[in-house]
Amino acid sequence: MEHKLAALGRKPEGTCIQVGDVNIGKDFCIIAGPCSVESEEQIVEIAIEVKRAGAAVLRGGAYKPRTSPYSFRGLGRAGLEYLRKAGDITGLPIITEVIDTRDVYLISEYADILQVGARNMQNFSLLVEIGKIRKPVLLKRGMNATIEEWLNCAEYILNEGNPNVILCERGVRTFETYMRNTLDLSAVAVAKRLTHLPVFVDPSHATGKRELVETMSLSAVMAGCDGLEIEVHSNPQNALSDKEQQLLPKDFEMLLKKTGKLVEFRKQLEV
Ligand code: PEP
Ligand code: MN
Repeated sequence: MEHKLAALGRKPEGTCIQVGDVNIGKDFCIIAGPCSVESEEQIVEIAIEVKRAGAAVLRGGAYKPRTSPYSFRGLGRAGLEYLRKAGDITGLPIITEVIDTRDVYLISEYADILQVGARNMQNFSLLVEIGKIRKPVLLKRGMNATIEEWLNCAEYILNEGNPNVILCERGVRTFETYMRNTLDLSAVAVAKRLTHLPVFVDPSHATGKRELVETMSLSAVMAGCDGLEIEVHSNPQNALSDKEQQLLPKDFEMLLKKTGKLVEFRKQLEV
């Protein structure tokens, strides 16, 4: 494998990315928020809840990649404005997905971190465009991508001069149909061995089922991830996307208490 720029040997101390008060790669970091930004009230309410529970970064999709063109595809620019407002009210940095090269500059004016979704992992022109700016970027693993393909996509961004890449495992497609995807925790261990980049896990899209999110989050911590991205909604039953997997704020809060303990335990194992 040739991962010239991402290779661990190039930076054995690991990449740290300062976003707001959090040092991603050094401090364990929780990104949380709804699948989609649905209204100003919705995102502000959820932002306050996730901040109270201990999240460090607020997520919310304004441009949504949807399987069907008839599904809710996001509020676009208005969604970015509401997300920014919710971030400013709570003091949380914000992350949102970019699905089109034409939106990179607009979205980077609003967002603190750009997200490349699983469906766009190998959109090479998008990766090159994002590589030309310096905004941190969370690169999700494609649902059909090998680890090598995923790391090569990180290489595309790094090669353009943007060193602020965060990897995110979010489940891959297998023969199993019970979950939405199969969370590949071995990919976390491999990415940590091969690269100096922070590695996150998204247990929400990986499982597609809210009752599995806690167990897989705790397992991801023990697999060595640097952070989690979790979907949270105050009223998941009526969410405009991903109803089945979004956690209620109270369940999210419980989950963060447990992950916090496990992160401390993991530190003890390291010495
Ligand atoms: C998301 O995080 O909003 C999303 C669409 O996830 P993925 O790209 O992993 O499917
Ligand atoms: Mn979602």
